[in-house]
Amino acid sequence: MTFSIVTVVGARPQFIKAAALSAAFTKSDRSTERLLHTGQHFDDKMSSIFFDQLGIEPPRWNLAMGGGNHGAMTGRMLEGIEKILLENTPDMVLVFGDTNSTLAGALAAAKLRIPVAHIEAGLRSFNFYQPEEINRVLTDRVSELLFCPTQLSADYLQRENIRGKVEVVGDIMHDSVLLARKINAKLSTPLDDLELQSKGYALMTLHRAENVDEPVRLAAMIDYIRSQAAGQPVIFPVHPRTRQRLAEFKISLDGFRCIEPVGYLDMIALLEHASELYTDSGGLQKEALFCETRCVTLRDETEWPETIETGWNRLWTATHHEPLSREPVFGDGTTAHKIVASVETYLDTRSGLL
Ligand code: UDP
Repeated sequence: MTFSIVTVVGARPQFIKAAALSAAFTKSDRSTERLLHTGQHFDDKMSSIFFDQLGIEPPRWNLAMGGGNHGAMTGRMLEGIEKILLENTPDMVLVFGDTNSTLAGALAAAKLRIPVAHIEAGLRSFNFYQPEEINRVLTDRVSELLFCPTQLSADYLQRENIRGKVEVVGDIMHDSVLLARKINAKLSTPLDDLELQSKGYALMTLHRAENVDEPVRLAAMIDYIRSQAAGQPVIFPVHPRTRQRLAEFKISLDGFRCIEPVGYLDMIALLEHASELYTDSGGLQKEALFCETRCVTLRDETEWPETIETGWNRLWTATHHEPLSREPVFGDGTTAHKIVASVETYLDTRSGLL
């Protein structure tokens, strides 16, 4: 018997995680995994480049449902995903992280009584004004399998008396970084293309609503990075949302080298050689740690406090990093295989019970 799995993706970080997971599913003859792309991120630089470069099978379905306010977007996705699940009746639905696509995929499946597995379960920023925090908490509530990256995330779930089965499997982004490094050895040359010296530049990304939608805060962050970088070039692959806001608020980017968003291979190569990273991305805080590049997180709290404890990361509100530690807190880069094995064991048990 072959299990049928639908993995819902929609945003850039999910394509990166799907690359590692789909590679592990391909190696199993017990399951067939198909990707459902909601279309939350749709332009080439935010979507198709990841499928092309990371060798991911093109999505079996693409709903093209990006754009609009959170409620409208999530509602359209919910309807579109439900239709596909009704027609295809998979054994399980997998979702990653904390986007609107995550929540829509989890809700659509749970209401059809299709079991949901949440990858990156149990993360908490404890800032309930953040749309991502709402998506995380609600997705965890309706999931049957909760794959936690660290013990801390599993502890949070235990405190919330979560209903599903909680398992600490390590962080799938570690698998993704290892995959990119393997391909990069042959392919990526962004330092040459941008005429940069290793450790001679800083790297930054900025895209979260709470940072870029408010002109005073956005300007304060730009000023902060400019002063911290102290004359070093700052390479800034600009997220489409941030580009729009910077233009709208007429904020000067003197001293920054703004480029289009880059593919994952270039991002990892740029990160490995940067002197420091400034970011509000969740994923990049860990990638910096895996690449041993110091990170300053442009947020007032983080859902990845483990990265702060290692000393490789600090919040912009803190003045210095903790002493460095090399304790591996995010697993050993075999998370995708652990997830596939656990999903298949769960479905075996379930089919025995039905
Ligand atoms: N990333 C990328 N190109 C870029 C900027 C980011 O490949 O120009 C990658 C980055 O390495 C990380 C992911 O995209 O793996 C982070 O995505 P994002 O910041 O959109 O989301 P978050 O991590 O906050 O969920």
